[in-house]
Amino acid sequence: MKLNPNSLSQILARRILNYGAISLHEFMSEALNHPEYGYYTKSNPIGRSGDFITAPEISQMFGELIGVWCASTWIKIGKPNSFALMELGPGRGTLIVDALRALKALPECLKALELHFVEINPQLKKSQEKLLSDYRVIWHKSLDDIPQKPTIFIANEFFDALPIEQLFFRNKKWYRRKVDLADKKYKSEPKFTFTEEVSSLSDLDRQFVVDSKCLNGSVFEFSPDSRDAITKISKHINYYNGAALIVDYGYHEPNTNSTLQAIQRHRYVDVLNEPGCSDLTAHVDFRALSSVAIINGVSCWGPISQGSFLRRLGIETRSEKLSVSASDATKESIKRAKQRLINEDQMGTLFKVMVLGQKSSYPFPGFLSNELSETA
Ligand code: SAH
Repeated sequence: MKLNPNSLSQILARRILNYGAISLHEFMSEALNHPEYGYYTKSNPIGRSGDFITAPEISQMFGELIGVWCASTWIKIGKPNSFALMELGPGRGTLIVDALRALKALPECLKALELHFVEINPQLKKSQEKLLSDYRVIWHKSLDDIPQKPTIFIANEFFDALPIEQLFFRNKKWYRRKVDLADKKYKSEPKFTFTEEVSSLSDLDRQFVVDSKCLNGSVFEFSPDSRDAITKISKHINYYNGAALIVDYGYHEPNTNSTLQAIQRHRYVDVLNEPGCSDLTAHVDFRALSSVAIINGVSCWGPISQGSFLRRLGIETRSEKLSVSASDATKESIKRAKQRLINEDQMGTLFKVMVLGQKSSYPFPGFLSNELSETA
């Protein structure tokens, strides 16, 4: 059945007419995850023919180095003889296939490993099933049923896909951003507009807002779903042992600008246009994630830049090795892919890497001992 791309607009418009403006979080949640018309439930967004390309799709080196990271982390957490490798939002499954190939170098670890995926996109789940047909994989729709054993979590470009709220500071007051109908008497295709509502800050919001500069026009973003996910992961690591590797684009310094964006076919489009048809994302607030993790009793390493992380794990050596018997054209494409992953003006700085683990005195692979964040 061909889906009507405007159906979600109609559903949201009726809801607004009946109950009033909805929160930005509700708008984003529906646009991304609506069971029938949500962006992540109805389309295959990744790749040249999709809306964006991710690091594992750029080069096999990315997943392979994450495989090396998993092997060293498994040793570091005490070589549990049974553990879960749980990937959040595995996309097409490319990262994990490359990681598993690298993990073959440590058969003991591969034997102890049980694969778990958290995925809401049925089309991507099919790609994962196909690509991983030689492995036993257990799929989950959420983080509500993490296996009760030591777990290594991997999340590449997962947190930027979770909905956010936005608060504005103006004339000494906070306002919450909401989404309303631009014209309540719309005829065919409803159009949406931003509106706002005076809001009080919860204690948790206040904790993150306090030291951001509250100037007129400051925008403060937060993601309740990310906080929830980090809380579950941290509690699990604390209780069952394990670690979490989080890679995403985002910031660590207090930020007072909107980072909300919509991407369709590799271009920026209007955030409120055709909900469900474009990828709505926001930059990840690593400072908020690390605070939540530390409050929940785990250690937080980084974030450091993706460039530093991949260099320390040996991307230069790996690219040289891959190039040894390659044709000149392949050598050139390996070099270009490596630069795209690590160069400052490409993904190297904007993308950051953070690791959560049980409290310990020596660092996780890819981190230096002074890269431990201790305060929430
Ligand atoms: N990690 C992959 C894909 C990143 S795109 C890569 O690097 O290529 C984001 C992924 O998260 C997709 O697989 C998407 O379907 C999934 N996803 C988005 N929101 C989700 C949610 N709320 N719960 C579970 N998976 C989600």
